[in-house]
Amino acid sequence: MTLPVQDNTQDVQSDKLQPGLYIVATPIGNLSDLSLRAADILKRADLIAVEDSRVTAKLLQHIGIKRPMIAYHDHNADYLRPQLLPRLNHEAIALVSDAGTPLISDPGFKLVRDARQSGAYVTTIPGPCAAIAALTLSGLPSDRFLFIGFLPPKESARKKALEEVAGIAATLIFYETSPRLISVLTSLHQILGDREAAVTREITKKFEECQTAPLSELITHYQEKPPKGELVILVSPANKKTEIGEDEVKALLETALKDHSVGKSAALVAKQTGLSRQALYDLAMQLRQQSSSDA
Ligand code: SAM
Repeated sequence: MTLPVQDNTQDVQSDKLQPGLYIVATPIGNLSDLSLRAADILKRADLIAVEDSRVTAKLLQHIGIKRPMIAYHDHNADYLRPQLLPRLNHEAIALVSDAGTPLISDPGFKLVRDARQSGAYVTTIPGPCAAIAALTLSGLPSDRFLFIGFLPPKESARKKALEEVAGIAATLIFYETSPRLISVLTSLHQILGDREAAVTREITKKFEECQTAPLSELITHYQEKPPKGELVILVSPANKKTEIGEDEVKALLETALKDHSVGKSAALVAKQTGLSRQALYDLAMQLRQQSSSDA
């Protein structure tokens, strides 16, 4: 089967953009990070679908243009999408979010999916993304990483989500807000152990900061110095068997035993550490017996 080849050079060759959907990444703080191509597409788009028109208006003002905007966000997307789709046949519609790459913890996935299904022209103008910027800044392994985005706000759901990824041998990337940083770092420490981690803050802005340390030290640091602004947390990949100490294994088991049976705790910690489930079961039994005889 021969698939049609999409011509992505047309947008710099003529004044009128080809009708379709243009996914445009915008800066995550420093407005100078808007690419030349992104600025060019925004200038020539018939319509810009935005999360918040006040935020995008500032960006447009920065490049000296005014374009028609329509709000496309979590609360109206299902209603608006069917109206936008037919317009893609005769209008060039740019999709932006307040900051960074649309669709990455931001609206747009269903619009792109449906636009592709409808046969509309869809293209992307890549650029800033906080997750990738944070990964490059952190000094943590960048060969394999898993973007998780925002964890659930409720502690029990958050811990469950972390248990699912605890054994994955990849740097884990989380988006977070500063008021929740300590409680999220605490959950990460309880479920993943005292791994090397990084908190990257205010990337590309005046007070850009990156702290890399074991999770326990990051908790102490930010308890003493509560953070402000936007941040990304990164946690180094799951330990290999040889790198994990006995005390750490016991601590992980003790945490798991608070919420789970001996068998489930052993299974969870096996996933987290790569250690034998049987050996962990035996150790968990000992810990449980110890704690009931202490009580
Ligand atoms: N689509 C965006 C992207 O491509 O990065 C992410 C949008 S998400 C709603 C917002 C989150 O991104 C923030 O809570 C924070 O975790 C992260 N973020 C955005 N800008 C940032 C910055 N300048 N420094 C650190 N984190 C940032």
